[in-house]
Amino acid sequence: MANNSTIAVKFEKISRYFGEIKAVENLSFSVKEGEFFSMLGPSGSGKTTCLRLIAGFEIPDSGNLYIDNREMSNTPPYDRDVNTVFQSYALFPHMSVEENITYCLMLKKIKKRERLKKGEEMLELVQLPGLGNRKPSELSGGQRQRVALARALINHPSVLLLDEPLGALDLKLREKMQIELKDLQRKIGITFIYVTHDQQEALSMSDRIAVFNNGQIEQIGTTKEIYETPRTLFVADFVGSSNVIHGKLSEQIFDKNASFTIRPERIRILPLSEETPSNQEICISGKVTDIQYQGANFKYMVLLDGQHEIVVQQQNLRPNTKHLFQPKIGQEVRLVWNRLDSNEVIL
Ligand code: ATP
Repeated sequence: MANNSTIAVKFEKISRYFGEIKAVENLSFSVKEGEFFSMLGPSGSGKTTCLRLIAGFEIPDSGNLYIDNREMSNTPPYDRDVNTVFQSYALFPHMSVEENITYCLMLKKIKKRERLKKGEEMLELVQLPGLGNRKPSELSGGQRQRVALARALINHPSVLLLDEPLGALDLKLREKMQIELKDLQRKIGITFIYVTHDQQEALSMSDRIAVFNNGQIEQIGTTKEIYETPRTLFVADFVGSSNVIHGKLSEQIFDKNASFTIRPERIRILPLSEETPSNQEICISGKVTDIQYQGANFKYMVLLDGQHEIVVQQQNLRPNTKHLFQPKIGQEVRLVWNRLDSNEVIL
């Protein structure tokens, strides 16, 4: 991150309705300059509306929007120092890659030689050197998205908005592009605001994430905060998977009638005979009801007290690894985890 204290974009009590539908309601949050900020949430939760509000394609019904500390709610899109990259690339099919990338320089009447030079620089930046003469139809999906990126970055906007830009790519290419995007953002230091419904994508690239639900933000935090200390059950469930402990079981384990989450990979599965764990650890016994082989991991379903099912994830280590315990279906086991790994959540 370039600078922790300067605010690039600020929402102040912003609402946007479409007739009866509340797309976003009374939203207040800030994105810091140089930050990779992701808006994560299910379909219809209001992410794209926020992006469109920043770009100027939507105007708030109430509230104020600041970009670089200037109120911008009613400023048209072309007067905002932001650019957008869409999932659909939105390249001009009849123009070459170079013409696509330098289109905005042409509109500004920049001389051809300078445009070419700048275009080549941008192609280098997005790792497509020498492809300037091709047409978009002669490129792969990943290459087209790189061209769209180069085009959006050529006039060095203060904020780059990315609306599910990798959504059309297959998994392997998406993962490769995630690494490239993060590297690129580090290199150029521009604020990236990234919309996605893919929690893994948000976790792997972002400095901070805002988790959206039903037009509101459930939680904003660093990737670690969002994953390790989710504030609500929705966040715990949407970002990764969680076991939820409540009711009688919660009273039994935590002496409190509340809801707690625990991640499957933080639970150890041990034979009944093992010695008692420390005070800091929670220990509870149950019976394995199912085992799923997932390649890199095994997933064990363990039934506690005949009604609560807990999921445990264990790495698929070599069978002769020291202290490795791989129970069978029907076997009685003990589940052990550190108290600090249980996290109280709001329902
Ligand atoms: P997705 O991931 O599917 O794009 P999203 O989280 O980006 O979803 P938005 O596109 O912001 O969600 O939509 C929020 C709500 O506002 C939804 O209920 C949507 O149907 C509604 N909405 C968005 N744009 C319009 C519009 N132009 N007219 C009517 N309703 C709209």
